Amino acid sequence: MNCYLCFSPIVPEVNWTNFLLPGIEKKICVTCEEGFERISDECCPMCSRPGKGRCGDCTRWEEMLPGVLDQNHSVLTYNAFAKDFVAKWKYRGDYAAVEALEAAMKEKWKLLNLEDYLAVCVPLSLERGKERGFNQSEALIRMVGKDPAHLFERIHGEKQSKRTRRARMEAENPFSLIKPTNQPVIIVDDIYTTGRTVRHMASLLKENGCPRVRSFTIFR
Ligand SMILES: [Zn+2]
Ligand SMILES: [Zn+2]
Repeated sequence: MNCYLCFSPIVPEVNWTNFLLPGIEKKICVTCEEGFERISDECCPMCSRPGKGRCGDCTRWEEMLPGVLDQNHSVLTYNAFAKDFVAKWKYRGDYAAVEALEAAMKEKWKLLNLEDYLAVCVPLSLERGKERGFNQSEALIRMVGKDPAHLFERIHGEKQSKRTRRARMEAENPFSLIKPTNQPVIIVDDIYTTGRTVRHMASLLKENGCPRVRSFTIFR
């Protein structure tokens, strides 16, 4: 078996590795594995950003949209190696590459006890969908062993407005909730960057009876 990322042969190792779950086939070599950096416990309790205590982004979000997103969980830092990896998988259409991270994702997912949560996918915009023909968020949900719930649709043509940040945030929401739920929800996506996408979705869910919204991404 060859490494998914650099194609060098994977030599089975006798010693343990803390990156992959035992029993799951290794898809990336040790060198590539070392390029990824796991998010440790020393991270923002709200969004998993590496560092001590609640980060500045979350503080600002909580001022603007208090209580909308309960928590974001991420597995790996979005370091230079991860950026390269994402570029390869997204823009070169190498969707299978994400399978290399399956074990790390499953391990984190299991720790979070998300059994009662509905795993909700992020809908692709029409243009993106056509271009990629592939919904990453859906694939990630299947990878952790859940059925993706399709609760949202995209609205096209975002409007700009000069109202308050909160009103603008609401006016610019590119999603429409087609199936409200009263179950707790976990939104699954590849990367948490600004946290805007998940909050757009979370605010609609919470306004329509959803008790708890968390998000889960590979990278932060
Ligand atoms: Zn490799
Ligand atoms: Zn944070």
